[in-house]
Amino acid sequence: MSIKVNNLTKYYGNNLAVDNISFEAKKGEILGFLGPNGAGKSTTMKIITTYLPPTSGTVSVDGFDVEEKSLDVRKKLGYLPELNPLYYDMNVVDYLDYIAALDGIPKSDIRKKREEMIKVCGLETMRKKDIGTLSKGFKQRVGLAQAMINNPDVLILDEPTSGLDPNQIIEIRNLIKKLGKEKTVILSTHILSEVTATCNRVIIINKGKIVADGTPEELQGRSKGQSLVILEVKNNCDKNAISGSLKDIRTVNKVEFVKDTGDSFIFNIYGDKGVDLREVISTKVNSQGATLLSMQAKHSTLEDIFRELTK
Ligand code: ADP
Repeated sequence: MSIKVNNLTKYYGNNLAVDNISFEAKKGEILGFLGPNGAGKSTTMKIITTYLPPTSGTVSVDGFDVEEKSLDVRKKLGYLPELNPLYYDMNVVDYLDYIAALDGIPKSDIRKKREEMIKVCGLETMRKKDIGTLSKGFKQRVGLAQAMINNPDVLILDEPTSGLDPNQIIEIRNLIKKLGKEKTVILSTHILSEVTATCNRVIIINKGKIVADGTPEELQGRSKGQSLVILEVKNNCDKNAISGSLKDIRTVNKVEFVKDTGDSFIFNIYGDKGVDLREVISTKVNSQGATLLSMQAKHSTLEDIFRELTK
């Protein structure tokens, strides 16, 4: 079960929303679409789910072209759209039964499928409530339940945790991770922690273009950022001498004196990307006769790479 996107371009009038992107997503992948607002994430999802035609390029889901075989594509996928359109005057049970019938689930199976979704999405206490009266979090769960009721092989989730409280976010992320083992999942987010928490692959999209594609770890490694060590030494030494000797290290680019805490000096030491400076710093500090109190290596985060790529 795969999604193949080839040279996809989408214009709204003269506005280029998606600019010649290509990628593939396979079963077992939870692919995160990460990008600032207006990057083209929702547009790409709307094309994959057949709700919008591409301007050029092709998209297929399990071999079915989204334009030529849109009904086959729709049968394969569950979609949680950005604005999660729901029927507010229906209760949860009636709404899910209605969606199940629309999805072509045989009448005799509808009850079982609906109950499965109510359990998986934690909707037991809301079953007879009108959707319009539910909190944002529960509405989102109903949206997820409708996307999954037909047990689709592909799930396309546009900002699935938006508007949820921290507990709900964790529950929904766990649910997506569980589902992701059996399915192909694409989710969009502008929240960086979301992709590290949920996705095993990330595509960073900016101004309609893919600017990075890899595992969260790979992308962090690709950051142009420098390595950073925060050093604390006892203040019974000459801070200028320490600073000078640290600057002599070949892989050190910059030494910043941060503060005198009263009994210690704190420095930020910047070095070449990917270099762990701790051992060489410890040797230098010892050779200066200073007392090393602590050292902390800071790694570049996905946030660093996101900023570098989308600024
Ligand atoms: P994202 O989901 O990353 O926030 P979108 O795909 O919604 O981005 O939008 C990409 C670009 O397309 C933006 O410039 C947006 O203003 C434009 N856009 C989105 N939907 C429409 C539309 N229906 N008509 C015209 N322009 C649109």
